[in-house]
Amino acid sequence: LDNTAQNMKMIYKPQEYRIKDERMKPFIDESEIWEILDSAKPTQEDVRAVIQKSLAKNRLSLQETALLLKTEDPELIEEIKAGARSLKENVYGDRIVIFAPLYVGNKCVNNCTYCGFRASNKKQKRTTLNEVQLRSEVKSLEDNGQKRLILVYGEHPMYDADFIADSVRTVYSVKSGSGEIRRVNINAAPLDVEEYKKVKDAGIGTYQIFQETYHREAYAKYHLSGQKSDFDWRLTGLDRAQEALIDDVGIGALFGLYDWKYEVLGLLRHVNHFEACYNVGPHTISFPRIKAASDSTIDPKFEVSDEDFVRLVAILRLAVPYTGLILTARETKELREEVIKLGVSQIDAGTNIQLGGYSEESREEQKLDHEQFEIGDTRSLGEVIDELLDKQYLPSFCTACYRKGRTGEHFMEFSVPGFIKRFCTQNAILTLAEYLEDYGTEEMKKKGYDLITVKIDELKDSQKTEDLQKRLEMVKQGERDLYY
Ligand code: SAM
Ligand code: SF4
Repeated sequence: LDNTAQNMKMIYKPQEYRIKDERMKPFIDESEIWEILDSAKPTQEDVRAVIQKSLAKNRLSLQETALLLKTEDPELIEEIKAGARSLKENVYGDRIVIFAPLYVGNKCVNNCTYCGFRASNKKQKRTTLNEVQLRSEVKSLEDNGQKRLILVYGEHPMYDADFIADSVRTVYSVKSGSGEIRRVNINAAPLDVEEYKKVKDAGIGTYQIFQETYHREAYAKYHLSGQKSDFDWRLTGLDRAQEALIDDVGIGALFGLYDWKYEVLGLLRHVNHFEACYNVGPHTISFPRIKAASDSTIDPKFEVSDEDFVRLVAILRLAVPYTGLILTARETKELREEVIKLGVSQIDAGTNIQLGGYSEESREEQKLDHEQFEIGDTRSLGEVIDELLDKQYLPSFCTACYRKGRTGEHFMEFSVPGFIKRFCTQNAILTLAEYLEDYGTEEMKKKGYDLITVKIDELKDSQKTEDLQKRLEMVKQGERDLYY
């Protein structure tokens, strides 16, 4: 199944391939991945040709990506990073989508050795937000200007599909002033098909599940007990989501558990599986690095240095030119600023991962025993927006696509010519203007509107910009939630 997206479409007729058993088959073969890595012997010409292929917006094969992963020549590594930066500029432009994580409950029956929430950690304070607390968290997030959330849950019988669906509905129902949450994504345990359907009915955006490591043996070492110790149940978790017609799914690997080059190919293999079976890749890829967690020690053998982290993000960008890349506040402000340039499309901002941590009354200093892990970027949403504007990035709270039904196989944001200009940039401008009007200081407003003027000029299409200008005026007059 290792091939480009285009080839995939020729080989498989997706509808015919929609045979449940075939799709649910575990598709990771450790020795195949190691063989590809071991046999990659990159020459200068190879590496440059692969970069060029990606710059022409083609998906890279596992073998081509392995050539980039095995490159150790510092000059070529710089060329890989430059390639990623240029792809980011050409394909994605300067738009960065902003979201916030909201932890709903940290009870957990699993024992993932790296996680502060694991069942055996008696030091962890266990909390499940009740409806009042959840509302109060959402209100605080809305009062700050957030529009997109990802709800996070431990794995526990209490957090079943009905519970998750109820919490999603509660979040959507909270309106405070001009604030509202318009897209709720989920990071929770894999479900079965009927359970996913219930969650989908509540109107979720993306369902995100990280495989943690794509290496079975390593997986077994870190996942000691509970449902999550079943590698294949987790690996096929998002196939069941597809079966339930949740076609916006997010994959990820937790870097630091196993060899990082292997994991990059594991992620890619997962993307190939989705393309072959559903004719569409995952909506997003996440690449969290392990952080210190309450009462947890992780063997540093596979620790990923900052330098390698930057490399891996650049290589992922080149390998899957049209898949969203998510960078979280696990990383520090400085590293985030560097990695964003390499092709990240979404970041969280104003992040607080304490249960109940967004509501003013319960805010505490970072305490490992009250949260899953330590975060690296503790800036407020306003501070992040301010700095993005300083660097000429366009912060976006856009939620248009899934509300317009532009999801899954019918829609690939970055493969449709002109899509970004037609929809993403304009929606970014409108949502940024809302933010400036409702939450910005006078200074931020000036900076923001100056940038908006520049971005509108760059659109270079008077017909479109006329309508956009009209809508921008409407936003200034108090209209909200205008999108293309
Ligand atoms: N309990 C669900 C699960 O495990 O999939 C969903 C929520 S879990 C809290 C979300 C993700 O946090 C995990 O998939 C894992 O990758 C990440 N995580 C856990 N411990 C971490 C740590 N110490 N540092 C960084 N990320 C961590
Ligand atoms: Fe539980 Fe998820 Fe933490 Fe594992 S990573 S212990 S499943 S919350």
